[in-house]
Amino acid sequence: MRLAGKHALITGASQGIGRATALALAREGADIAINHYPDPDGAHRRNAEAVAAEVHALGRRSLVLGADVAQEKPSADMVAQAIREFGALDILVNNAGILRDATLRNLTRQQWDDVLDVNLGSMFNCAKPASSHMRERETGSIVNIASVIGLTGNFGQTNYAAAKAGAIGFTKSLAREMARYGVRVNAVAPGFMDTDMTRTIDPEIKENIRKQIPLGHFGTAEDIAAAILFLVSDDARYITGEVLSVNGGWYM
Ligand code: NAP
Repeated sequence: MRLAGKHALITGASQGIGRATALALAREGADIAINHYPDPDGAHRRNAEAVAAEVHALGRRSLVLGADVAQEKPSADMVAQAIREFGALDILVNNAGILRDATLRNLTRQQWDDVLDVNLGSMFNCAKPASSHMRERETGSIVNIASVIGLTGNFGQTNYAAAKAGAIGFTKSLAREMARYGVRVNAVAPGFMDTDMTRTIDPEIKENIRKQIPLGHFGTAEDIAAAILFLVSDDARYITGEVLSVNGGWYM
């Protein structure tokens, strides 16, 4: 097992790519802290608890941690709790993300702030305390989930593209800061994946996108989880500051 004895925290892990990553890392021996948007009695919590049960079934420990990663203090408290309960944190996957699509002409300041805060602000909020802990231990790995849209831009997504391009700049800068401590920082840039995030795309538009993907289909959450697993494992021990595109060839 590639991650035996490691402890990971994954943001937005109650479904989609986060859930698939939790299971992929657990299968390789890691204990998993599963973050979800806080709603003590609601669907987010129940989904996160279901993922925790799947992690348990794989023989690993799991924690369910509700915290709005757009907010600094709850994020820092969450990272501290994961470190306290696991004893250490080896892996952070900054995965939580949202869309609030509109052309700039129609985009509200609130939609701009929400997308920047959840997709990019969360990386500051979680990586700051986690990297401080990793620096002290002189080991660790952080993976930030960007997007192909951060590389290409997209109609109606100035907010999302800015956040995801920001995630790439953040990744490369933090990789430079942390390399001397033996901590690696990388990004994964997914293309179009079959998750809740893309399920609302109009079927006609979806079919047009599909035709432009050289491999001929949308990817799965498991395709991204496999890339994340590679980056956090020792197989990638000489890789830092990299952006791994997983997009079926849609953008090369
Ligand atoms: P998803 O199914 O919508 O999952 C997003 C996750 O983010 C959910 O688990 C959600 O948690 C969590 N989240 C949202 N706001 C949060 C907050 N304030 N605090 C804590 N958690 C929060 O979408 P996905 O496709 O798996 O997306 C995962 C990541 O991949 C995102 O960063 C997304 O931008 C990126 N990505 C996806 C695609 C794609 O095609 N699907 C392409 C490129 C990049 P709750 O369910 O608890 O709200």
